[in-house]
Amino acid sequence: MSNPKPLWVGITGGIGSGKSTVCHFFKLLGIPVYSADDRAKWLMVNDPDLKEKIISTFGEESYLSDGTVNRAFLAEKVFSDPEQVKKINSLVHPSVGKDFKTWAEKQTSPYLLKEAALLFETGAAKELDYVINVSSPLKIRVARVLMRDPHRSEAQVNHIINQQMPDEEKSERSDFVIKNSENKLIIPQILEIHKKLCDSKQT
Ligand code: ATP
Repeated sequence: MSNPKPLWVGITGGIGSGKSTVCHFFKLLGIPVYSADDRAKWLMVNDPDLKEKIISTFGEESYLSDGTVNRAFLAEKVFSDPEQVKKINSLVHPSVGKDFKTWAEKQTSPYLLKEAALLFETGAAKELDYVINVSSPLKIRVARVLMRDPHRSEAQVNHIINQQMPDEEKSERSDFVIKNSENKLIIPQILEIHKKLCDSKQT
């Protein structure tokens, strides 16, 4: 008898590797996608426990008077200091983990996707049945991000890349790798993984 619980599949990759682009195609195949990064931003405003912890750790200035996150304050006081980044992540990740489980329990597809730039780094990968890494050459990633985010400088993009786990290590630790370079089509790779995951769910 088939198990009604979908397989939990993570999809990761460094900045600009093409995670969101790849997830778009999985969504077209009917696969539900949980975007951990988008949801984290939402939870920072809408999870009262998390909000309280952020305020008690970083101060009232973390939020603006309309209740939205004070991005300028956090960028200057928190995201510029690796120790503070660890601290805020230790508050946000458990909230995302809980929220993901609540969402996952409602899904009925053969598998679901949890999209996150940091899956191995946060330990979230341990709770997943499989992980897919979206891999793309560094030069292409930088060029694509600069095109997508005109407010970012090349130095800023390289700084983010240097803080993330190297792509080779992510690929080694993953069950599937989607190569998103200029000379490789992504749709056939997605269809192949989709078939394998659907088949593995039936066995
Ligand atoms: P981030 O970690 O910053 O959220 P991401 O891994 O989700 O990034 P995307 O936003 O999917 O990456 O892709 C980065 C940019 O590159 C986007 O503007 C996207 O449209 C473009 N892009 C991704 N893959 C391709 C491709 N195969 N061909 C052309 N453009 C692409």
